[in-house]
Amino acid sequence: MKRAVIVGAGIAGLATALRLGRDGWHTLVVERASARRSSGYLVNLLGSGYDAAERLALLPVLSDRALGVFTTVLVRADGRPKFTVPSAIAEAALGARSMSVFRGDLEAALYEAVGDRTEFRFGTTVSSVDQDADRVRVVLSDGTTEEADLLVGADGVHSATRTAVFGPDLRVDLPYIVAAVPLGDLAAVLPESSATTFIGPGRTAAILNLGPQRSSAFFTYRCEDPRSELRRGPVDALGAAFQDLAAGVPEALRHLEKDPTSAYFDRVSQVVMPRWSTGRIVLLGDAAWCVTVFAGHGAALALAGADQLGAALQRHDHDIPAALADWEAGLRPEAVKRQALARRGMYQYAPPSRFHVWMNDITIRAITLPGVRGLLRRSIERQNR
Ligand SMILES: Cc1cc2nc3c(=O)[nH]c(=O)nc-3n(C[C@H](O)[C@H](O)[C@H](O)COP(=O)(O)OP(=O)(O)OC[C@H]3O[C@@H](n4cnc5c(N)ncnc54)[C@H](O)[C@@H]3O)c2cc1C
Repeated sequence: MKRAVIVGAGIAGLATALRLGRDGWHTLVVERASARRSSGYLVNLLGSGYDAAERLALLPVLSDRALGVFTTVLVRADGRPKFTVPSAIAEAALGARSMSVFRGDLEAALYEAVGDRTEFRFGTTVSSVDQDADRVRVVLSDGTTEEADLLVGADGVHSATRTAVFGPDLRVDLPYIVAAVPLGDLAAVLPESSATTFIGPGRTAAILNLGPQRSSAFFTYRCEDPRSELRRGPVDALGAAFQDLAAGVPEALRHLEKDPTSAYFDRVSQVVMPRWSTGRIVLLGDAAWCVTVFAGHGAALALAGADQLGAALQRHDHDIPAALADWEAGLRPEAVKRQALARRGMYQYAPPSRFHVWMNDITIRAITLPGVRGLLRRSIERQNR
């Protein structure tokens, strides 16, 4: 039986464990955190990500947890509505083969699907790695050494596997912070089944209210020194950047104060590498190609990458380096395209000026016009091909 060590129990690592486990591999997942990490804002599964979810047989479970359709209410800083984008618009634009779920629900669906076919070691990471033509040897922080046919570094945008094997400086840090805060019940504050969204110069705050325990806040903002923002921590940094806003933001910040560890809070970075593998070591997901939150496609690409990796390994049977090269050739064009779209997406989430905010508003309003809706759907379909 072939053996794989997978670093990271995020979306990419779990999806890889699922796919390889089903293909008959023995898989060991090592996760640095002491327990599962199930938080996060919504993730969109469309295009190749939706196809992968289908092939991995995740759709029945995910459909039960899908966020469904909701109205987007664009608001001013004081909470007064600017205009509303009806749920039918997003539904029509995204098409039938798409789904939005909370990241935590996707993580849970993957974890449950993996079941006991994988060995998990939490609170564990990789201390050193070396390989020859036949094996890769991985020394773990728990003092054990694993020999495997394949090492998959799925340890996210700050991947230690990437730094250890491919060297530093492959991450392009962008001057933005992103945060997601799970919320309790917001029914008294905001309309149910809505995303109340403020987009102003350099920042976005969106509060998704889908009922009790199905609500979450998303924040992103531009800042010249993200490292010092990270040092301040989410409570101070988000408090300073968003305290002037109304419409659910004060409540979200109060939630955050009560439980700061529940928040996802990070700088925004892309990862740009000339190759995602060397010999029997491969990077997958954000570790290899992080596209950023602005692409809205990180989880979808992680699923697609894992599923397509399994398919390539099957095609090439014993020749792992050839399988990895074949897999990368198939996937790289999409990752490159998503990274380029993300760089443009920054203007939507953190418009540089009031003029850009105004232009965004006009674009979003135009989307609500019946003729433009069809154009939008065709454009999204083209992007997902
Ligand atoms: C808790 C959490 C919440 C998130 N929320 C959002 C969100 O709201 N919006 C958004 O756009 N993106 C979010 N992300 C990122 C998003 O999940 C990814 O962009 C996307 O799903 C690709 O997944 P990934 O598995 O490559 O990376 P990730 O989902 O980041 O998973 C990487 C995993 O590797 C683990 N890890 C890191 N270093 C090591 C190490 N040295 N050894 C072992 N394990 C290690 C991490 O703890 C993590 O579990 C979140 C990530 C996490 C971990």
